[in-house]
Order: sequence, then structure tokens, then C-alpha cells
Amino acid sequence: MSKYAVIGNPIDHSLSPMIHAQFAKQVGLSITYEKILSPINEFSSTVERFIKSGGLGFNITVPFKINAYELTDDCTTTAKAAGAVNTIKVENNTLIGENTDGIGLVNDLCNNLHQSLKDKEILIIGAGGATQGILKPLLDCGPAKILLANRTKDKSLKLAHKFAKYGKVCGFGLDQIKAKPVDIVINATSASIAGKMPEIASGVAEGAICYDLMYGTRTPFMKWAYKNSALKVCDGLGMLVEQAASSFAFWHGKTPQTQPVINLLREKGD
Ligand code: NAP
Repeated sequence: MSKYAVIGNPIDHSLSPMIHAQFAKQVGLSITYEKILSPINEFSSTVERFIKSGGLGFNITVPFKINAYELTDDCTTTAKAAGAVNTIKVENNTLIGENTDGIGLVNDLCNNLHQSLKDKEILIIGAGGATQGILKPLLDCGPAKILLANRTKDKSLKLAHKFAKYGKVCGFGLDQIKAKPVDIVINATSASIAGKMPEIASGVAEGAICYDLMYGTRTPFMKWAYKNSALKVCDGLGMLVEQAASSFAFWHGKTPQTQPVINLLREKGD
């Protein structure tokens, strides 16, 4: 059986094994897909062990997407633009990196949630590996502007500078977010994992689509968005399934259906 995995820290919460099992069932493939907890400073040795054990591909989650990019021998143009990788294919002992986070988010926002991004003002909070993956695909949809705010201001400034060639994007610190409403607020911090919501000006969410990359029925960001008069509040389950479908296609050359899997996971979560 072909062997796949997701590597992260923490990893217990990951739904990826269930999603890939459903996709494999849909297209009649026989695979295994496990969760691997990597110690923070041992990502490359964790990868090495997995490959030695016969691993053919793996997903990478918090906080290793940038380490994963550095480990690859070659990358797709999407992954190169991102400088972060969430999917690796092992081919003839070389590691080929891809980043499917951006296409996953865009597919969920545009196809599943029927939102247009054209000419919209989008605020992203967080400037980690996930943000690196979503910036170009979002800018490719033609928003008016992307505002990029991060706790460590320097990181958002650097990312804004790096992605400016793809569209209008400006970086600043979380404390510089204005109370003025935007069209879409995306939470790309990992604060939700620790049950936290960063302190930001609440007026920014009024009448906005608020989207948490983290999934769950009521994440701290979602509670904050409801409390601050958001128009629509969404978690990242749809994105999770969409990015997994693109990873699956990258490995197996077959595109699975996402909606039945999203529905199944929503039912299980109720
Ligand atoms: P990461 O590379 O570790 O980056 C974490 C980001 O969160 C950094 O910008 C960090 O700010 C910020 N942060 C962490 N704790 C914070 C706090 N208490 N207050 C303010 N900011 C805080 O993680 P990542 O890979 O970008 O992932 C981010 C989130 O997206 C995670 O929740 C992950 O599960 C989710 N995600 C979901 C999907 C999906 O398919 N739905 C896909 C990708 C990622 P500093 O730079 O200041 O440290």
C-alpha cells in the first residue's frame, strides 16, 4: 500500500487522515495516511525517517511549512512564489514541493461560499507559513488591496514587500489595524489553536465576511466576529478539504469531489 502522512506539531487535531481516506475511497486507491508529530527542532530527521520507511508523499502543517520549503529539491511555481510548502511528493529520492493552501482557500471562498474577491479590501491577520501560501492566489483574484497585519510587524512588512509584484498589499502591526470596516477579514494566525484571539480593533469586522483558517464550529476568532457584527462568519473546514483535494491530485493525478467530504465532516462535527 502506498504510504502518505501529515507532519506537524501539534498534530492530534488533524482531520487530514480522514479526508484522504475518503478521497482514496472515492477513486478506488489503496493508501495509508498517518499523523506524525515532529519535535520542533527535528523536522528534517522526522521527514528522513518517514521516507526511509517507504513514504511517497506528505503534507506539512504548523509550524513547519517554511522548513519544508527549505528541504525540497524542486518546487512548483506556486510553492516558489509562496516560499512555503504544505505538500511534498517523493520521486526518485528527490523532494518536490507544492503549496495548495492558496488554491484551497480561493476555491472555498469563491466556489463553496460564492464570494467574489474582485475589488474587495481584504485584511489578513498573521504572516506565517499559511499567509505565504495564500497571498499570491488571493492577489491573483484582483482584490482592491490586501492589508497584512502581524504581531511581529517586521514579518508583515517583509511579506508585503515580497508580494507587492502580484498586487496591492501593505504590511503593518496588529496594533495599527484601524477600526474602519473592510470587506473580508481572514484570520491566519495560529492563536485559535491555543484558544486565543489577538487583540485588534473590533470595528474592522463590521459588515465583513470573517474567515478563520482554523476549523471548528466556534473558534475564538469566530466568536469575536459574531460579537463585532460580521456579515458572515466561516471556519476553514472547506479550505482544509479543498487544499487536501489539490494535494491528492498532485500525488495521485486524480481530482476527488470535495463537497461530500465537507458535508461528512460537518455532520461528524455536529
Ligand atoms: P505559523 O507559520 O506558525 O504562523 C503563525 C502565525 O500566527 C504568525 O503570524 C504568528 O505571529 C501568529 N500568532 C500566533 N499566536 C499568536 C497570538 N497569540 N497573537 C497574535 N498572533 C499570533 O502557522 P501557519 O502555518 O501560518 O498557520 C496559521 C493558522 O492557519 C493555523 O491555525 C493553521 O491551523 C491554519 N491553517 C489552516 C488551513 C486550512 O486548510 N484550513 C491551512 C493552513 C493553515 P508572529 O509572527 O508574531 O509569531
